[in-house]
Amino acid sequence: MKPAPFSYHRPETLAEAVGTLAAFGDEAKVLAGGQSLVPVLALRLGRFGHLVDLGQVAALRYVRDDGGVAVGAMTTHAAAGRDPLVAGSVPLLARAIPFIGHFQVRNRGTVGGSCAHADPAAEIPAVAVTLDAEMEAVGAEGTRRIPAAEFFASTYTTTLAPDEVLTALRFPVRPDRSGFAIREFARRSGDFALAGALCAVTLGAGGRIERAAIGLLGLGAVPVRGFQAEQAITGADPADLDLTEIGLLAVADTDPPDDVHATSAYRRRVGAAAAAQALAAAVAEAEAGVTRSGGTQEAAHD
Ligand code: FAD
Repeated sequence: MKPAPFSYHRPETLAEAVGTLAAFGDEAKVLAGGQSLVPVLALRLGRFGHLVDLGQVAALRYVRDDGGVAVGAMTTHAAAGRDPLVAGSVPLLARAIPFIGHFQVRNRGTVGGSCAHADPAAEIPAVAVTLDAEMEAVGAEGTRRIPAAEFFASTYTTTLAPDEVLTALRFPVRPDRSGFAIREFARRSGDFALAGALCAVTLGAGGRIERAAIGLLGLGAVPVRGFQAEQAITGADPADLDLTEIGLLAVADTDPPDDVHATSAYRRRVGAAAAAQALAAAVAEAEAGVTRSGGTQEAAHD
């Protein structure tokens, strides 16, 4: 099938893009890398009278240190994945990117597009929720900063207004003695994961866990945190952890629906195992104190 007819807009500045979105309201849609929107249009799952292509808005492509690490929304997955600042200061993001689709998808797809599309099994939204990132949005009314936990509303739905552009993600940087890991399971190379887990831990005095975050993808309508597990391990000596039990606690509050790809029970089982494995790997890295040494070490699909 082919998309329904639309008018194509190619602004060169953010102000121009926001102005065009405001002028056409619900009839307008942002086009970023096109990796999700173009299939939606081609299959006529959605139709919009006006597409506002951000491809020429160069000011939205960057990675920079601004106290944390800010990643411009139009930064491609591939560019973020090979960026030294991301690798050194937000290693969880660098490690999640190889799990996204195939290299062709990562070369075109953008960090902002992935978040705005809000697939519940997508990796970057899960990284944002796990690391308490902040999303920056610019619309006709001005600039807003939205905590990642409040950005994702439901499957394929965010709290962005129709005239808002997601402009950046801001990641806080964890101190030394932190460790990060992502584990997920997909049926075929390049597919979205059935379920997965991400973990960030920081060790404190005496090697106890001072701060822990466990994020889950594919286990609900939005990426979520395993708060019960986080609470259980905060203050604990890693040597005392029962990983199987912590994995089960991480998914305790989830209730994913059955679908054609997997049953709810299966997704929860995979999520629990992934959480246990991610926690073990993150703790091992924090104990070894090697977090800052590199970026993308984990298995890519390709
Ligand atoms: P687009 O497709 O251009 O846009 C997607 C949506 O976001 C649209 O609604 C658009 O209006 C909106 N949007 C985009 N940018 C902005 C912005 N800055 N402000 C406001 N709204 C915006 N993703 C994964 O996470 N994991 C996977 O395993 C995975 N596998 C894939 C496999 C295949 C074969 C394909 C085709 C895609 C896969 N993806 C996967 C999706 C991929 O990550 C997309 O790049 C991403 O979901 C959308 O990013 P995009 O830049 O292409 O956005």
